[in-house]
Amino acid sequence: MEYDVVIGLEVHAELKTKTKVFCPCKNEFGGQPNTHCCPVCLGLPGALPTLNKEALKLAIKAGLALGCQINELSVFERKNYFYPDLPKAYQISQMVRPICLGGHLKVGEKEIPINRIHLEEDAGKLIHSSDGSVTMIDYNRGGVPLIELVTEALQEPHLESAEEAVEFLEKLRQVYIFTGVADCEIEKGQMRADVNVSIKPKGSSAFGTKVEMKNIMGFKAVYRAINYEIERQKNILSKGGVIEQETRRWDDNAQESYTMRKKENAQDYRYFPDPDLLAVEVSKTVVDEIRREIPMLPEELKEKYLSLGLSDYEASIIVKDQNLIDFFEKTLKLCSNAKAISNWLLGEISSLSKDDNMIKISPDDMAKIINLMDDGKLNRSVAKTIFTKAWNENVDVEALAKTLGGNLSETELEEMIVSIIEKNPKAVSDYQNGAEPEKLLKWFVGQVMKESRGKANAVKAEEILKEKLK
Ligand code: ADP
Ligand code: MG
Ligand code: ZN
Repeated sequence: MEYDVVIGLEVHAELKTKTKVFCPCKNEFGGQPNTHCCPVCLGLPGALPTLNKEALKLAIKAGLALGCQINELSVFERKNYFYPDLPKAYQISQMVRPICLGGHLKVGEKEIPINRIHLEEDAGKLIHSSDGSVTMIDYNRGGVPLIELVTEALQEPHLESAEEAVEFLEKLRQVYIFTGVADCEIEKGQMRADVNVSIKPKGSSAFGTKVEMKNIMGFKAVYRAINYEIERQKNILSKGGVIEQETRRWDDNAQESYTMRKKENAQDYRYFPDPDLLAVEVSKTVVDEIRREIPMLPEELKEKYLSLGLSDYEASIIVKDQNLIDFFEKTLKLCSNAKAISNWLLGEISSLSKDDNMIKISPDDMAKIINLMDDGKLNRSVAKTIFTKAWNENVDVEALAKTLGGNLSETELEEMIVSIIEKNPKAVSDYQNGAEPEKLLKWFVGQVMKESRGKANAVKAEEILKEKLK
């Protein structure tokens, strides 16, 4: 029997705010256990939460970058469950009215629909002693703002393989990092995914029962967990068994999963509006303000770079690196020769910055160098000399260009060429009758560069030489 695979993702990302989502404690990874805590995030009786405006803003930004609609009114609810990482015994989350609805993200050629993005708080961290006798709790992470994005698995198109799921996660991570919403450092647990998997006979319209695997860290683990689960389900079905709805825990070291809990529904959480928090109203004006802050995303940037004449290869490299993008964009504002910027960026700049990842020339100086070259006031070798100086110290590029060369006027250049031709009658006649005119032309250009001490524009010189040597 052949099967279709259906995958739904629930992705948590920690927002990049200074403080927690409902209290003024630091949102900072690590620290001595239980030092970033207060009565609010410890859930002490009588403590009252207040919403962090920046967290709300970042959640809206994430939604806008992914084409979601922003709910003008959204509501915080209590998701009740009892587990010691949650001191209040409920998590403040959103269900009926999340901040963002809809949207999509492209995977391959497919626009994968997004169901929602909501804002919630993270839980604390349980630390189990190695012999299993003691569990310690660190609440530093409790109350850190999270956005949870849920994909729409029961609509077309949806994610159908481990490869597609991982591509979705990688693209999403890129969007979050790009928009400055979240750092998504996987090792710090700043981005975690729950994976829902079901299979059904090929072409069947009825969906199979899904199995969820929670809190998988790392994209490779997601990949392995999905493939393991697909095989597990195929095995059960091929033996005539039924898939039970359950939550399983993926153990990436053992490369297998085991049952955590059977069948759980939204009702089990007894969601209800949190009476301590007001509903959130977001005006269109605020949404538009946030929309204006969203930078172009990698895919859009790539399109733009291709249209400016960069090759697919060049555009792809630049959009992968925020440093390169920043430099390219800033230089492009001062100089319209995109191809030249890209050449410098992927050539000299990349090789000089490969150890410390620091670009030590300003976009301003880079633009000046390229513009001087394009105006015929600098040749490539002098340009390189100036570039190297500008990399190591503060220099006045234009002044340097004047002293080092390239600023010979056209008349001066012509006069110089005429005198060189007069001084070399043998070379001239060899050029006119000889077998290797190209080689001699190069030699003449060399003479011009030598005599002008690099001040001549080699391209211009070649043009004039060709004309005069006729
Ligand atoms: P739950 O309440 O169990 O968390 P949700 O309805 O919130 O379930 O869905 C969680 C994720 O599972 C979503 O991405 C959803 O699209 C996906 N999903 C729902 N049904 C299936 C299914 N049959 N197969 C695969 N994924 C599914
Ligand atoms: Mg869910
Ligand atoms: Zn706190």
